[in-house]
Amino acid sequence: MAAALLDRFLSSDGSSYPADFQNILNLMSVSKSIGTSSEEFIWKAYSFGKEAHKGQLRKSGEPYFSHCIEVATILAEMELDPVTISAALLHDVIEDTGYTNKDVEQEFSEELAHLVDGVTKLSDIKFRSEEDKQAVNFRKMLLSVADDIRVIIIKFADRLHNMRTLEHLPAVKQRRIARETRDVYAPLAHRLGMYRIKSEMEDLIFKILEPKASRDLDRLMSKRQVFFEKYIQKFMDPVKTRMDASGIEATYKSRFKSRYSIFRKMRDQNRPFEDVYDIYAIRVIVKQVEDCYSVLGLVHSFYKPIQERFKDFIAQPKANGYQSIQTTVVGPDGLPIEVQVRTIEMDRTAEEGVAAHWQYKERGSKTTQDDIDQQVNWLRNLVDILQTEDTTTSHQFMDLLKIDLYKDEIFVYTPKGEVRILPLGATPLDFAFDVHSQVGIHCIGAKVNGRIKPLNSNLVSGDKVEIITSDSQKPNSSWLKFVKTSKAKSNIRKWIKGQEFEQSVHLGKEILEKELRKISKAKEWKHLKDPYMTLKFESEEKMIASIGSGHRTVTSILTKFFPDEYLNPKPEKTESQFAESFLKRARRNTKGVSIQGIDNMMISFGKCCNPIPGDPIIGFITRGRGITVHQKTCDTVGSNLVEKERIIDVDWSAAKAQKFLVRLKVLAQERKHLVRDVTETISAYDINIDTLSMKVDGDVVTGLVIVEVEGVKQLDRLKSKLLASDGVISVERE
Ligand code: MN
Repeated sequence: MAAALLDRFLSSDGSSYPADFQNILNLMSVSKSIGTSSEEFIWKAYSFGKEAHKGQLRKSGEPYFSHCIEVATILAEMELDPVTISAALLHDVIEDTGYTNKDVEQEFSEELAHLVDGVTKLSDIKFRSEEDKQAVNFRKMLLSVADDIRVIIIKFADRLHNMRTLEHLPAVKQRRIARETRDVYAPLAHRLGMYRIKSEMEDLIFKILEPKASRDLDRLMSKRQVFFEKYIQKFMDPVKTRMDASGIEATYKSRFKSRYSIFRKMRDQNRPFEDVYDIYAIRVIVKQVEDCYSVLGLVHSFYKPIQERFKDFIAQPKANGYQSIQTTVVGPDGLPIEVQVRTIEMDRTAEEGVAAHWQYKERGSKTTQDDIDQQVNWLRNLVDILQTEDTTTSHQFMDLLKIDLYKDEIFVYTPKGEVRILPLGATPLDFAFDVHSQVGIHCIGAKVNGRIKPLNSNLVSGDKVEIITSDSQKPNSSWLKFVKTSKAKSNIRKWIKGQEFEQSVHLGKEILEKELRKISKAKEWKHLKDPYMTLKFESEEKMIASIGSGHRTVTSILTKFFPDEYLNPKPEKTESQFAESFLKRARRNTKGVSIQGIDNMMISFGKCCNPIPGDPIIGFITRGRGITVHQKTCDTVGSNLVEKERIIDVDWSAAKAQKFLVRLKVLAQERKHLVRDVTETISAYDINIDTLSMKVDGDVVTGLVIVEVEGVKQLDRLKSKLLASDGVISVERE
C-alpha cells in the first residue's frame, strides 16, 4: 500500500527535488557528501511523510508537513546522519496519521522506526505544573533517552520549531509551553552541551514569559551594536596582524551573548544594561589545538588578562564535552571583554554538544559509541540512580535533577592525580561519595591541598583532595543539607533508611519478646512455622520492623496466633515484681529526673553515655542503686542488659538545675595556639573544663575535653562556637 503511494513521489533524477528538500540535502553535505543510497532513503522518508500528513494543517494555516521539514532542517544544519534526518521527517507520522510503527519499520528500517517510536513516546509525556507528575514524566523521559540519545535530539528540534511558531497559539498555551521548555528542555539541552539549541530556546522563552523586558533589551542591544562592531575591530586589528605574521590561520566572530543570559545578569547583579560589561564576546576559531595557545599568548601580549576569569577547558573538558579556552582581558578604554579560542571541531561540539558525534565519524564505530557513552555518562548515572533506588518522593527527585542540571562544574584531583568532575559548590563529602559509597559513608574529613578541611567546605577547581576516613564514622541527616551531588544524596538517604529499618527491627524484637513473655507464649511462638507468611509480610524482619516502627501493634499480630489470650485475657500479671516494689520503695531525690510521673527516686547516670538534660533517656532499675539513667541510644542498654522488664520510661524534670559532665572529641588541624583557643572558647561560656587532653598525629590533633554543662542547649552553643574556630574539623560528643 505504502509502496504504491511512494512510487508517485519517488523522483528518478535529483534535479526535480522540491526546494525545501534540496535545502536539507545541501545543509547535510556542507562538510561531507552523503551517498546516493542515503539520499534515496531520505527522499523516501520525505515522500512518505508528505503523503501521510496530506490535508492536515497547522494552526498557522500551513500544511502540517512543513513543520516536519523544518524539524529536519534544524537537524540538517547540525549535519546529523541520514537516519536521524529521516526520522525527523516522519516524527509525527505515528501520532498524527493512520500509520503504525510496524508500517514504518517495514517501509524503512528498524533503526528508523525505533527513533520515531521514541519521539512519539516522548511526545506522550506531558509536563504540567504539578511537581509530582512532572517528576514521574521526567523520569520516563530520561529512561527513554538513555536508550538512544538521538531521540531527544529530534525532540529538541521539534520543540525548538514549535517554540519558534508559538505565536499562532492562544496566550495561555504559549506560556505553558514556554514554561515547560524552560523547566525541562532547556536545562537538559544545556547538560547535553547543545548550547545553540539551548540559547535559542531560552531567548524564545524570555520573549514569551517576559515580553516587556525582552522588547526593551532588544532596543538597547541594537543601539549598542554599532559601538561594539567598531570596538571589536579596534580590539582585533593588532591581534589579527600578528596572527597573520605568525602564519596562524584563524577566523573570528563576535556577538552579543544570548538575550536571556544578559537579562539574567542585569537581574542578578541588579544593574542597568549599560553597567553589565560581560555581554559581548569574541570567538577565535583556529585549525589546530596548538594554535589555540598561540592565539591566547598573542591576545595576552596586547591586553591584560583578568586572572580569575581564565579557564582552560581544552586541558580539562567539561563533562558534556565542551572544550575551549576562555579568557577575559581588559581591552582598549578599560573595557573587559571575553575571548574564546577553540578549534573548528571544538566549536562544533560547543554548539551542538552530544549531537556533534553524529557528524564526523561513521556511525556504529566503536570509538563513536565510546565518545557518546562518555558524553551521556551523567545521564546514565542519573538513570542508574532512578533504577536502583526505590522511588524517592517526587520532590526529592526534582531536586536531584535541578542540582545536576543547573550547576556548573569544577575539576578536582585525587592524590594519584586522577580528575573528578563535580558540580560547583561540591564538598569533600561529595568527592568521597564520588570515589566510592563506602569512602563517603566513613568520611570524617579531607586534606585539601595538604590542609585539613571540614566536610562541608566548598571545593574549587584544581583542588587536590585526600579523604580521611574512620571506621566509626556514620552518615547523618545533617549531611544532606550540604552535599551537592545526587550520588551523595541518594547514598546518604539509602544509608539512613537502612539504619531506621535496623532500629525498627531492634525495637520490634524487644516489644514482641516482652509481649510473648507477658502472655507466656515465647515457646509456642518459636515453634510456629513462618508466622510472617500468614500475615502476608515479605519476611520475618519486615514483620518485626513493622512493630518497631509503629505501623502495626504487637497485639494485632499476636491475636492472629493466640486469640484466646486476647479474647479472654487473664488477670494482669505483674510486669515486673521487682520494678513495682522498687517504685514504691524508692522515693528519694531525683537529681532532675522524673520517673513515670513519680519524682522522688534514687538516680544515678550511666558512665557509658553520660546523658544530659535534653537527651532522650531511659531508666534502668538496678538492685540496690536505684535507677541508672542512660541515653536512649546507649549501646549498654541495648546490648548488655538482658532483662528488658527492668527498663522504665524516665523524663527530665525541668525544675532542677544541675551540671552534667560531657566528653567531647575535637578533631582539628595542628596549629599554633590551638589549645589556648579551645580552652578560651569554652571558658567564655562559663563552662568548667574537667579534663583536657590532646594527641597530635601528623597534622591532625585529636582532643578529648570533658566539660560541665547545664544541658543540651548550652552544649550545642559550645559545639558550634568550637567548630567556628580556625582549623577545627569536627566536634562530637563521645
Ligand atoms: Mn512535531
